[in-house]
Amino acid sequence: MRILLSNDDGVHALGLSQLYQHLKNLGEVSVIAPDRNCSGASNSLTLVNPLRVQQLDNGFYSVNGTPTDCVHIGINQLIKPEPDLVISGINHGPNLGDDVIYSGTVAAALEGRHMGHSAIAVSLAGDQHFDSAARVVKNIVEHLEQLNLTEQQILNVNVPDLPYEAIKGYRITRCGSRHRAQSMSKTQDPYGRTIYWYGPQGAELKEGQDTDFEAVRNGFVSITPLTVDMTAHQSINNLKSWLTNLN
Ligand code: MN
Repeated sequence: MRILLSNDDGVHALGLSQLYQHLKNLGEVSVIAPDRNCSGASNSLTLVNPLRVQQLDNGFYSVNGTPTDCVHIGINQLIKPEPDLVISGINHGPNLGDDVIYSGTVAAALEGRHMGHSAIAVSLAGDQHFDSAARVVKNIVEHLEQLNLTEQQILNVNVPDLPYEAIKGYRITRCGSRHRAQSMSKTQDPYGRTIYWYGPQGAELKEGQDTDFEAVRNGFVSITPLTVDMTAHQSINNLKSWLTNLN
């Protein structure tokens, strides 16, 4: 098996090296990641500057671009033949509910899917037990052949920040959502100029069952199938009726 690993926390992140250590014996594993923390980069592309790739002493490739750039350049240029599987993570912190539209971790997996390969995004809901998340990913990868994942879909995996033995099992979930983020902080830089900083993200909006939030909160690994079609299919008919008013 040929596996491409990437992330959004940067090529030096602990989650990435833990993932590599656990997966390196499964096949030919390449690591291509941003040269800095790109959390919140979503699916952004670097279109106005050239991309440069540097191979580090540990063999990982460092790119002066976004997570999406890394996966694209990896598949398009660096890995021959192309990988069978793209895995992004292990993210430092969860990617639950609304997080998925901002997440560079999820974006890297989506780019792998766009380029025709199976893809998994994995996040640890904390910053302690990366080992647990890596073992979870290995378990999933070893059973991926039995899963006929529909094209244009990825798996978004969130692992509770617990010792491996304390994880209760796996749940197939849907995306929940968050309350709006807390207020931005407005302060001054050392020269007296006004600066702004994003406030902490909103808490879980408790709504219904089977959400990714619920699974992780209860100590289960959450596996959510994601697709890029953001069409609100349930509103199509309502909008078609409304359209008659426009004539
Ligand atoms: Mn991140």
